Amino acid sequence: MKFTYSSGQRPLDGYTIKRGVGRGGFGEVYYGLSDGGKEVALKLVRSNLDIELRGISQCLNFKHLNLVNLYDLRTDRQGDYWVVMEYVAGDTLNTILNRHPQGLAPELARQWFAGLAAAVGYLHDHGIVHRDLKPANIFIENGVVKVGDYGLAKFMSDSQRTAQTQSVGTVHYMAPEISTGNYNKQIDIYAAGILLYEMLTGRVPFEGESVGEILMKHLTAPPDLSKLPFEFVPIVSKALSKNPAHRYRTMAEMARDVAALNGQEAPRAAPARPAAPAPAVPTAEPIPTVLAVVIPVRKRVSELCGAMALSALLAALLCILWAAVALRPTNDLREIGRYFLLTVTACWAVLVPAKLWTVRMEDSWRRRLVMMCLGVTIGLEALWLEGHQLSSLFGAEASAAEAAGVGEAAVEGAPQVLRPRWSIAGLFRDGPDLPVAACYLSYFGLAFFALRWWKMADRRRPQRFSLYSVLAAGVCGYVLVLLHLLPRASAPSGVGALVMAAAIVQLVSPWEEPPPPRSRRLRLRYA
Ligand code: ATP
Ligand code: MG
Repeated sequence: MKFTYSSGQRPLDGYTIKRGVGRGGFGEVYYGLSDGGKEVALKLVRSNLDIELRGISQCLNFKHLNLVNLYDLRTDRQGDYWVVMEYVAGDTLNTILNRHPQGLAPELARQWFAGLAAAVGYLHDHGIVHRDLKPANIFIENGVVKVGDYGLAKFMSDSQRTAQTQSVGTVHYMAPEISTGNYNKQIDIYAAGILLYEMLTGRVPFEGESVGEILMKHLTAPPDLSKLPFEFVPIVSKALSKNPAHRYRTMAEMARDVAALNGQEAPRAAPARPAAPAPAVPTAEPIPTVLAVVIPVRKRVSELCGAMALSALLAALLCILWAAVALRPTNDLREIGRYFLLTVTACWAVLVPAKLWTVRMEDSWRRRLVMMCLGVTIGLEALWLEGHQLSSLFGAEASAAEAAGVGEAAVEGAPQVLRPRWSIAGLFRDGPDLPVAACYLSYFGLAFFALRWWKMADRRRPQRFSLYSVLAAGVCGYVLVLLHLLPRASAPSGVGALVMAAAIVQLVSPWEEPPPPRSRRLRLRYA
């Protein structure tokens, strides 16, 4: 990025530029040092001069821990305007959300929202509407939220609420009434509702290809609240009311409801000076991204049933295709049946927990262990399908007489009935099938442990269908076969079932297209 000034230059008396930080809609921002050694951010204001400066001069003496402090408004020798302000070393919320596209943990969102609401409430109490609340203007420094760029703010009095006021802000956060030009601080409450939604889900509620499309959604479309943790639904719904009269009356009211979700009381009014700090939250990475994706149970169950039925259908088709292409002509229908059953069970073993396990756990060991147990169960099924006597695994003893309950010796020719002794000791007893059984169980157990199968059924996976996942399943199965965890004869069905399951699970699982890159969408500006 090319900046007007470079390190060491002193366009403004008393300050030395150290480096350019970034450029926004209103000018360039530099990191600099005062002659006394104080770190400052210097914003060279290039365009929209009236709006920027009018707002800033009214805010110069504001003091609040959750606001980026403004130190001065100066002009340089060329007559350019500079805003001298606190340099915030932390990340913007935009950067943090880019790192966590699935959203933040509700607890973290709640805490950061408290800081945001305290700052905006303070502005409102001083007659200022922010008008450009968005993640790029919210910083997190040492766990403290700092709201910046209230340069667009406009002094509010009833007489000033006219259509003359230019609409400036970023379209994704823009309340519907802004287009009428007749608005008040309720637009910040709307934007705060969008920000809360975005912190919790990683995306804004109204997306679109053009400014017009997004604005139209703000005006007419209801937000999809099913993506929110359910306890936040009434709060966000109220904040995003199309009619400003139905929104929260004040930021403090909204903050109270958000804080009450945690059983904690939010401040009744925005803190006066000296400002009360927002709860300190460590920003050390990684931020936990435990996000409850709340989809109504009924919808989840119906989706699951549909996916299970569809997976059975696809498995049947693929198995027939496989049999036609790969099986020897001597192979009979039973072999196809084995492929089919193994594939369907593998699909269901992925689909059921993926649908019913609602809390997002990225690389959770718990989740891997559950998948491993399911894999072991599939190993048992594979054993059974291959004609092995499972009972021998559990130390079963066959006795027709015992089964008949007469206590006599076995009668020759009588059908053998197996009576399993269900014991761990029995599991490890030396039996003829035990090594084979151990291999089968390990094969499927490890295959289900090694891969993140639940990601293939995740509705927010990056792609609808990833060939990479299918290949990974195949490679994983093949490596386990090379480790002699499956007899050569069973290798095709073992590996085939994994590959087909990986493909089918992705095909039958619902998918939501990810939001457009944040950098692209923030360029959409409405003025
Ligand atoms: P907008 O013009 O709508 O505010 P923006 O926030 O992307 O868009 P600027 O506010 O000009 O643009 O900021 C440009 C860059 O400078 C951003 O990367 C921002 O994080 C950084 N920045 C702005 N103010 C400060 C500050 N006080 N301390 C540290 N970095 C800052
Ligand atoms: Mg900014």
